[in-house]
Amino acid sequence: MRLPLFVLAACLTMACGVVSGVVCGVARCATPPPNIVFIFSDDHAYQAISAYGDPRHLIETPNIDRIAREGIRFDRCLVTNSICGPSRATVLTGKYSHRNGFYNNTNSRFDGTQTTFPKLLQAAGYQTAIIGKWHLESDPTGFDFWQILPGQGVYYNPPMIRNGQRIKTNGYVTDIITDESLKWLQNRDKTKPFLLMCQHKAPHREWEPALRYLNHDNDRHYPEPETLFDNYNGRGIAEHDQDMTIEKTMNPKDLKLTPPPQLTPEQRQLWDAYYEPRNAAFRKANLTGADLVRWKYQRYMHDYLGCIKGVDDSVGRVLKYLDDAGLAANTIVVYASDQGFFLGEHGWFDKRWIFEESLRTPFLVRWPAVIKPGTANKNLVSNLDFAETFLDAAGVPIPTEMQGRSLLPILKGITPMDWRKSFYYQYYEYPVPHHVRPHYGVVTDRYKLVHFYGTPDDYSELFDLQQDPHELHSVLGQADYRAVQQGLEQDMQRLRTELQVPDNAPPRTFGNRPIGATTNPQQNAP
Ligand code: CA
Repeated sequence: MRLPLFVLAACLTMACGVVSGVVCGVARCATPPPNIVFIFSDDHAYQAISAYGDPRHLIETPNIDRIAREGIRFDRCLVTNSICGPSRATVLTGKYSHRNGFYNNTNSRFDGTQTTFPKLLQAAGYQTAIIGKWHLESDPTGFDFWQILPGQGVYYNPPMIRNGQRIKTNGYVTDIITDESLKWLQNRDKTKPFLLMCQHKAPHREWEPALRYLNHDNDRHYPEPETLFDNYNGRGIAEHDQDMTIEKTMNPKDLKLTPPPQLTPEQRQLWDAYYEPRNAAFRKANLTGADLVRWKYQRYMHDYLGCIKGVDDSVGRVLKYLDDAGLAANTIVVYASDQGFFLGEHGWFDKRWIFEESLRTPFLVRWPAVIKPGTANKNLVSNLDFAETFLDAAGVPIPTEMQGRSLLPILKGITPMDWRKSFYYQYYEYPVPHHVRPHYGVVTDRYKLVHFYGTPDDYSELFDLQQDPHELHSVLGQADYRAVQQGLEQDMQRLRTELQVPDNAPPRTFGNRPIGATTNPQQNAP
């Protein structure tokens, strides 16, 4: 009798003692390899998930919180390169940008011939599907079914590409991605384990909520972050010279002063009924200075959090399907974002920086067969580890070329003694769209050493998160930190060597632009 590959893999893994919890009989495994549902949103800040307990209490996310309550919440999941495409390439390959070739959103194209975890799961007998945002330019590979948004996608009535064929849709993007995901789950071959990557566009800029969630907050006044009016004193030119402030960079589309063109007349009526009276009041008030920034922040929060309401609904529907189908116990459900996001901290929106709000991404995992419910974890983990974890959980060998590490021991409640104590980060995309200078750095549980490079005024900064949690004052060069700084510099060199980071930084994305020039405010940032 010929066994399916995934059965063989799980049995072999059990025999090697790598994975416990998979019980093998002589002819078949009593417990099959786990299913994997990977729910991935775009730009979802941990500050906007109630399970993370942000002091601003911006939103309740009961369905996303359920994953944390019934599983594990990672409090320090760090991304390798804090923007959309590079994060997705890292998730698929388990490699840094300099090894998978996808550095930035402006001129990178994913090489779909390289090894990815969906390909390896597919080869081991998994059914694989990706539905939603892809944003890697080339067509998906390693999936039995794919239905993706072209490029960045739009929120209302979005065109999609299904297995290479362009199709029309009607409705709201988050709902459509959820409907299609559930349809795929219902119609799958139920004799095989599955990988479903359900990848939302929301809550990406321009933060357009489902029409049912306009006025979801009843005109609530949102608490402001302490650093909304940061003046960047105590830091270098990169922080002063960026183009991503709520004050200067947000455009009329971001602020809903002009409506999106994709709305049908019926949808437009609902849109106008909410925004028009509020926009009229705004125009009449003729706000300036700090009052104008505050108004923009409030509008930003209404829209951004409204998008997350839709994502939370989606998570609830997927969890309900798993319950109803009797699949919950042996299905790994992940909720994560491609990176973090600034919700007004430092006066910013967007991501990119090594600073906490963009470096840290939400990461919640439920797997009732393995994970103790209600676990919280502060280990330095990363989107670099996702591929290795899924392969390990499925009993599929992890290729040595992958640069992360399986989280399976941590999911079982045991952090290996030699788990990473420091993490390497590198960002490349410059100067457009947000004029954030290329930088690399090393991060520990307490410190962060960052080096801004590629411009004539290269410089470094050192932050002590314990003394300065908002990262407002570099202590580089201070006598009290000399030993810490030396240790971090050595660690950074060690990591660059181990990870095979090239000495020469890759070229900028769009040649040379004058330092201090601002980008086009109409630019829709990837
Ligand atoms: Ca993103």
